[in-house]
Amino acid sequence: MNRVDQPRPHGAKRTGCGPLLPPVTEAQRPLRLQAFEGIRAAGRVARAQLARDLGISPASVTSLTAELIEAGLVEEVAGARSSVGPRGRPPVALGVNAGAHLVAGLKLSDREHTAVIADFAGNLRADATLPATPGARAPEALIDAMETLLDLVTGRAGLARADLSGVGLGLPGFVDCAEGRVLWSPLLDRRPLDLAALASERLDLPVHVDNDANLVTLAELWFGAGRALSDFAVVTIEHGVGMGLVINHRIWRGGGGLGLELGHTKVQLDGALCRCGQRGCLESYIADYALVREATTALNWPHHVGQSQTVLLESLHDHAKAGNEAARAIFRRAGRYLALGLANVVNLFDPGLIILSGERMRYDYLYAKETLAEMEALVVNAGRRAPAVQTHAWGDLLWAHGAAALALAAVTEARLGARA
Ligand SMILES: [Zn+2]
Repeated sequence: MNRVDQPRPHGAKRTGCGPLLPPVTEAQRPLRLQAFEGIRAAGRVARAQLARDLGISPASVTSLTAELIEAGLVEEVAGARSSVGPRGRPPVALGVNAGAHLVAGLKLSDREHTAVIADFAGNLRADATLPATPGARAPEALIDAMETLLDLVTGRAGLARADLSGVGLGLPGFVDCAEGRVLWSPLLDRRPLDLAALASERLDLPVHVDNDANLVTLAELWFGAGRALSDFAVVTIEHGVGMGLVINHRIWRGGGGLGLELGHTKVQLDGALCRCGQRGCLESYIADYALVREATTALNWPHHVGQSQTVLLESLHDHAKAGNEAARAIFRRAGRYLALGLANVVNLFDPGLIILSGERMRYDYLYAKETLAEMEALVVNAGRRAPAVQTHAWGDLLWAHGAAALALAAVTEARLGARA
């Protein structure tokens, strides 16, 4: 371990103290961006209200919004009827010009690929799904699949690729969003891969890449239960176990750009083997493959070898529902490990809410009351209730919706951010 010398109390060196903050232009979001985001978040808002929300004068709002209208990003719309003035004039409010920019959100997985087209106000214009084959593949094959999917969804929206301003792309694995680099993914046969750059070159569009758990978190932050919350966590359980964390209304990406890998936190020394090659990871006890692994042994299913995980998992669930004790025990044990993982999240981050998200949330054995009770028992006892846990059984489109939010945020930043 490196030894770090602590500052000497009587040192004469003038190196300063306090956090070294970046320049103001980087740290503060420009007012025009704040105004635009305020309008988009409200749906429609009167200028006077926007001035109050931003804490600036009505004259400043008038000039800012004139700039946004001139740029074609915002338009005047009919205001809420309740705000009709005493003279009966129709109220005027501001809304986002939805057609100003269109983006695509794509989610690639080893079961199916999904895509959506969203406009600048966040409305969905079209969606599409393509079946996928499991396993790792060459980058070219993944980019081919992405291109086919993109052409399908743009066609459904009556658009050409050139009509889009950007693409958000999500896939499972370790992804450095800022660098656009996939460090590892079960979908790819090589690592690392500058996927954003390769995809951008193929599509001739800006492409932004993130891992799928962060995309679900973005979907909750932009469109779901997280819109009004400053701090919350999303835990996804499907093929793996993912996590996204929102701190002060922003997704937290970590010092190294990877964010959180809850699935690979260790819950057992020398425990079950994980897909990452290490042992005792949380996901090696609760992810789909872990349940199937247990089921093929405990239920003596050698003839099921070669069947898809989805089919095997459905079968395990059916057995549990029918009262098969071995099947129920598999879900119960996984539920206990899930409780342990959630309690660790609470003890580390103290989130205001935990959202459990994924397609398999109907496996109620895993998300039973006992799981939550066990989590509460493992949370540090501060005399307060543990944070609420909500289960959101949304489909794959949610993930693609999050990918669209990633692209929308990037386009907005490019048009109105500090470097615009
Ligand atoms: Zn692992």
